[in-house]
Amino acid sequence: MNPVEIRKDFPIFAEQINGHPLVYLDSAATSQKPRQVLEVLKQYYEHENSNVHRGVHTLGTRATESYEGAREKVARFINAPSANQVVFTRGTTESLNMIAYGYARQRFQPGDEIVLPPSEHHSNLIPWQQVARATGATIKYLPLQSDGTIRLEDVEAAVTANTKLVTIAHVSNVLGAINPVKEIAEIAHRHGAIMVVDGAQSVPHMPVDVQEMDCDFLAFSGHKMCGPTGVGVLYGKKELLDEMEPTYFGGEMIDVVELYESTWKETPWKFEGGTPIIAGAVGLGAAVDYLTAIGLEEIAEHDAHLASLAIERLQSLNGIDVYGPEAGVHRGGLVTFNLRGVHPHDVATVLDTQGVAVRAGHHCAQPLMRILNVGSTARASFYLYNTEEDIDRLVEALQQAKEFFGHAIG
Ligand code: PLP
Repeated sequence: MNPVEIRKDFPIFAEQINGHPLVYLDSAATSQKPRQVLEVLKQYYEHENSNVHRGVHTLGTRATESYEGAREKVARFINAPSANQVVFTRGTTESLNMIAYGYARQRFQPGDEIVLPPSEHHSNLIPWQQVARATGATIKYLPLQSDGTIRLEDVEAAVTANTKLVTIAHVSNVLGAINPVKEIAEIAHRHGAIMVVDGAQSVPHMPVDVQEMDCDFLAFSGHKMCGPTGVGVLYGKKELLDEMEPTYFGGEMIDVVELYESTWKETPWKFEGGTPIIAGAVGLGAAVDYLTAIGLEEIAEHDAHLASLAIERLQSLNGIDVYGPEAGVHRGGLVTFNLRGVHPHDVATVLDTQGVAVRAGHHCAQPLMRILNVGSTARASFYLYNTEEDIDRLVEALQQAKEFFGHAIG
């Protein structure tokens, strides 16, 4: 895998940012888009655009074939047993909320337990708070180790016969820890609970096999994996999707509509109320083709290598705190850090003057920030188009920030 060649696929890297070539280290927030995806979107709008499923005209058929073809591509990408287990949603947040509304809220009751770590992204935390409020179920948080990982023995201790749902991010968006989802799913299932995996930071970056992992639901976003914004996926086991209630009611998702009651289409179409995210799904299908051609194993290795290198380089600079698992540990491609005594927004602003884009803030994980005893952090996240030179540029820009804020560093 050659990131220098890969970069040429991404028109955005022709941009100059504040007089410097762009160093984009914010792919965990959203990835850049290759020409191959942009061209498929253009082709779709210029030659296929129509509504799906209902039209009998030629364009309607083309659009339907492209849309349903994208579902098949996504199913193969995550090794789903059938394309009918892939629901197109707006993204991870919507997918997780659909499980909360359509599955958990319909079933849970006082005494039931939902188990998760406190390090989850708000999208995989607030929906469960809302389920607990609505149903009387209880949330049980798993203890976090100092590097943000969780221990399987703590999962064993937390999950009981009362547990109905266990959920965790496959890869933490703040700490980069890779969680043992397969082992956690096994514990959940042994106690009769279902396992929900937030794949927002794993599906774009590593091979993910839902059958191997044996999760009951998996949620992820297209925009973090070279696809367009506004499209994501909810994968579920067939029997669970069949049992689950739709969240949106209206056109497209119905079978028979009477005046006082109606019936729904089968899974997955019963979950896709209204005109679906047609172009988004087609673009996601193109992104899946693009990533598959490069190879997810290679991407995972590349991202982890850059993260380890970045950790080592940052740790060699005085005055920088790095959070999460050590360099060299099997981890996702992101690094979270703080320049001691300087607000990360100020750090990110100085880096931006050098063309280096990093994220600063609470990363939608306020409870985790409290555990780390920080208000916010900076985060550099890597993807297939990043190079070791990008890390050199990050380090140079950080050295400038250190000089600039020198007085503030303890
Ligand atoms: N979960 C994790 C771990 C994430 O990193 C993100 C996005 O940053 C989300 C959920 C939410 O994804 P989206 O905003 O695409 O719905």
